[in-house]
Amino acid sequence: MEPAPAASGAGSPLLAVSDLAVRYGRAVQALRGVTLAVPDGGIVAVLGNNGAGKSTLLRTISGTCRLSRAVIEAGSVTFAGRRLTGVDPGGVVTAGVVQVPEGRRIFGRLTVDENLRAGGIRQRDRTERARSRDRVFELFPLLADRRKQRAGLLSGGEQQMLAIGRALMAAPRLLLLDEPSLGLAPRIVGQIAEVIGEINRQGTSVLLVEQNAEMALELATYAYVLELGRVSLEGSVEELRRTDQVQRLYLGGVDPGNAGAAARRERPALRRWVANG
Ligand code: ATP
Repeated sequence: MEPAPAASGAGSPLLAVSDLAVRYGRAVQALRGVTLAVPDGGIVAVLGNNGAGKSTLLRTISGTCRLSRAVIEAGSVTFAGRRLTGVDPGGVVTAGVVQVPEGRRIFGRLTVDENLRAGGIRQRDRTERARSRDRVFELFPLLADRRKQRAGLLSGGEQQMLAIGRALMAAPRLLLLDEPSLGLAPRIVGQIAEVIGEINRQGTSVLLVEQNAEMALELATYAYVLELGRVSLEGSVEELRRTDQVQRLYLGGVDPGNAGAAARRERPALRRWVANG
């Protein structure tokens, strides 16, 4: 396997998660010793099925896990050399890490403009705020056209764009994306993927959590597979694509011993996107 981003480049990674163990209550151990890294300027993907611990991982990094009563039992999160473990969500945003939560939680009753303003609330400098908004409108011209429209009236894809745009208003160095493809048509997934690539080319690092493995592996250079709260596999995207586990579980390949289950897991929408993309 290729060395993890932490060990492959010069110096420390931008984000380092080390031996993280997180549980909910007594019964649910959501993360069990998870270690991963995001290099500065990179896109790293975390794949995993429902309940693997992907959202818990992002919530722990963004400091929001306590809101869902998660307890960090062990491990650490370090960003740009600074320990983030235990820092409150606002402090994490100020440090430069912003999460786009699963399910596009935008403010439906507010307009597009008001949603964006809410995203930039911690940005004190007016010029910086205006620069961030210009960037969002360049990336998503459609949001500029709809700026006075109530966000709740936007389509699912437009709401996802707004959720990403709102996060960009805080000018993050690292964007945490929780399943941005969820529930969207393949064509829209393709558009979102293109914009994520562009955001990264403009200098923002990305940690992308996805069940849509094709999308994630198209965008990322390095990926981790999370299963039942543990990293079961990691490597460069080229290496992971070649493994039986990723082929079988995430890319719709057929395991001869369990063809029925593999067929049920196959994701035609995702494959269409790849074909069209
Ligand atoms: P999904 O793709 O379905 O969101 P996931 O990989 O993001 O799955 P998590 O949501 O992190 O997984 O869940 C990991 C484990 O923690 C699961 O067993 C889940 O049921 C449990 N869990 C998640 N949130 C809570 C919570 N607020 N309270 C109790 N258990 C939770």
